[in-house]
Amino acid sequence: MTQILSEVYLDYSDILIRPKMGINLNSRKEVNLQRLFKFKHGQTRTGLGVFNANMATVGNFDVAKKLLAKGMFATLHKHYSLDEIGEFLISCRNENIPLDNLFITIGLKNIDDEIQKLKDLESKYQWVSPRNICIDAPNFYIQRALDILARVRNEFSDAVIMAGNIASGDICLKLLDYADIIKCGIGSGSACLTRKQTGCGTPMVSLVVECADIAHSVGGHICADGGIVDVGDICKAFCLNSDFVMAGGMFAGTDEAAGDIIEKHFETREIVDGKHVIETKYFKAYYGMSSEYANNKFAGGMSNYKTSEGRELMIPYTGSIDKILQDINGGIASCCTYIGAVTVKHMSKCATIIQVHNQLNRVFEKYSV
Ligand code: 5GP
Repeated sequence: MTQILSEVYLDYSDILIRPKMGINLNSRKEVNLQRLFKFKHGQTRTGLGVFNANMATVGNFDVAKKLLAKGMFATLHKHYSLDEIGEFLISCRNENIPLDNLFITIGLKNIDDEIQKLKDLESKYQWVSPRNICIDAPNFYIQRALDILARVRNEFSDAVIMAGNIASGDICLKLLDYADIIKCGIGSGSACLTRKQTGCGTPMVSLVVECADIAHSVGGHICADGGIVDVGDICKAFCLNSDFVMAGGMFAGTDEAAGDIIEKHFETREIVDGKHVIETKYFKAYYGMSSEYANNKFAGGMSNYKTSEGRELMIPYTGSIDKILQDINGGIASCCTYIGAVTVKHMSKCATIIQVHNQLNRVFEKYSV
């Protein structure tokens, strides 16, 4: 018989964090955003647990560099060559950009080559401890993914390993035998079509609570990946006990994201001298890593047994990433003062979460400039 879980699973837009009087924090400046992470397989790292997604559009060098410089965590997407990554490491060392929190992504395809690439990175570009690996699979519910994870741990015993994605608590313990961080979230991404094409996925709030509980019980960590619309959602993820948050779309419109700025002209309703006024708007391309575009670009086309599970989008251009990173720092610090949390780690202990029908007042949204 098919099992139907009738409990309602919640997403970020279904909840708010209720402010409360807690420990006496006079200013958001008193909040410590840097957290010490003690990982299951022996390593430690310090930083604010915010990652860029390991996607070709935002898992690029410029975005990674900015996040690392701000004391956050960063990933590089898996399509960079050995020498491209090596040159990046050299440039960061020259510019005093800390590399402790940089995760190099590998995929499941051609795993022998991927492992060799990491070994070459070690011998040719001194990529040695502290080092971090992200094992990327849209679906970690396959035995081959688990076998590869075990093999990578065996080859790189000193690395912090993040693996995913998964969307249920039951598989967490299996991954944590070898991984330090589990990447949780299937179908929540802004460029994702998985829920439309397969009907599969789990809303992020319930997923984070479930996975964090299981992972923390054995000293593991989790990363809430996908579905971050506003900085408030990052705050919610931390309050729900997620150790890390990963965002793609949030960074996709910035100067630092990969790809050129796209200029588009739109005819407005306003008429001057008998002609419609033309308005110019700027965008950047953002596409899912399972989109047809990504398959054409990186995998030589769509295989005939596959369907596209990613969108191709044009995101409004937003300028430098600096403003967004400042908003992230400011938003988290402010959230902490609303709930009396002195550190990010305290957020989940201090937070009271309320389920809501209406999260935001959108009455003047269309008039925003
Ligand atoms: P966002 O922050 O844009 O909401 O979500 C980013 C996340 O979406 C990524 O980290 C990744 O987990 C997921 N993602 C990226 N590309 C695709 C895709 O083509 N299909 C699906 N299902 N998920 C994707």
